[in-house]
Amino acid sequence: MVKLPSIKDKDLELSGKVVLVRTGMDVPLDANGSVTDDTRIMEALPTIEYLVKREAKIVLLTHINRPGGKVVESQRVTTTAAKLSGLLGKEVEPLNDCIGSDVEAAIKAMKPGEVVLLENLRFHGEEEANDDAFAGQLAKLGDIYVNDAFSNSHRSHASMAAITNHIPFYAGLLLEKEIKALTSSLEKPKRPFVVVLGGAKVSDKIGVIRNLAQKADKILVGGAMMFTFFKSRGFDVGASKFEPDKVAIADDLLNEFDTKLVLPVDVVAADRFANDAKTEIVAASEIPKGWMGLDIGPESVKLFSSELSGARTIIWNGPLGVFELDRFADGTIAIAKLISGLTGMAFTVIGGGDTLSAVEKAGLKGKFSHASTGGGAMLELLEGKELPGVVALVKPEA
Ligand code: AMP
Repeated sequence: MVKLPSIKDKDLELSGKVVLVRTGMDVPLDANGSVTDDTRIMEALPTIEYLVKREAKIVLLTHINRPGGKVVESQRVTTTAAKLSGLLGKEVEPLNDCIGSDVEAAIKAMKPGEVVLLENLRFHGEEEANDDAFAGQLAKLGDIYVNDAFSNSHRSHASMAAITNHIPFYAGLLLEKEIKALTSSLEKPKRPFVVVLGGAKVSDKIGVIRNLAQKADKILVGGAMMFTFFKSRGFDVGASKFEPDKVAIADDLLNEFDTKLVLPVDVVAADRFANDAKTEIVAASEIPKGWMGLDIGPESVKLFSSELSGARTIIWNGPLGVFELDRFADGTIAIAKLISGLTGMAFTVIGGGDTLSAVEKAGLKGKFSHASTGGGAMLELLEGKELPGVVALVKPEA
């Protein structure tokens, strides 16, 4: 496992230092700019609290959504700062830019233990371009840089990568926790190691399947992506969602990893995409003409349960059906209950925005060994790719 420089390093002097903390507080906002889910703020708290306790001057950085290099009023950090203030029990002042003389003056006036939040980094196009001069302007604001934004660490952006050319750099507590949980599962999994993959598209998960097939004992596949596999076996999938241009790859994967990949044996078929649709549980190869498969069926839940019950390491990414519609949430909820019940006996890791929403819907939040805040970042790690935000923390200091 890569050793990251840690903010817990006892030789690191934090008191009175200006610490720039890149967080992943990319919270969902509604049309009025209100925060609709504060998970990503909650996850940022341990590092912030650690630094407050050590009397650092804390300057938080984040992006919100995709403003595309210009100011978008509804994507300002103001409401995030207010929410964070409430959760932290301490005022967090939002600044109205992330670089420049006004920002520098505001930081100069800070006292130890105080916290400010810089304006949305993506209001500047240079952020996503990993522009080194912009990174230098950010770095100039502080004494030390801390990356705590695991969910953005697959992005080679200025506040994630180039900034480490200019300032001493460390990993925050969330980043450390995420990397440890995910890499330990991949590098030294207790066996049996079972992976559950669902979600909309097989194209997002081809690299993950290829990499994990070398490491895992079984990969259980559900979600809409199962239909691309069924199609490759010659089944009529009716109106189910599948990717015609990935059928050949699905066929290759099944041929190459036939002892590892486990497909559902039955599905909940519906005559249309609606909660009040006519439904029938059918064998995977028997979807009625014009109908669509929207969940895995009860026999598949049993099959997956038998594969999972003795597992010692479990990684799950992607819902197994259209869990947003109650009628098609049973498969996902059953597997969520099963995996959460195994926590303790097995090291259970879940991730991906939809998987976390499904788990919340099932009332099982907090019942897994690790819930990753990173969707794309988690998948890239599972694919075996290096994350630019992490690579930037392991290069030798200049
Ligand atoms: P992803 O973003 O790839 O994790 O995909 C999540 C989405 O996949 C969710 O919105 C689910 O509703 C959807 N999904 C899962 N199973 C199916 C299915 N059988 N048919 C259509 N969509 C599905």
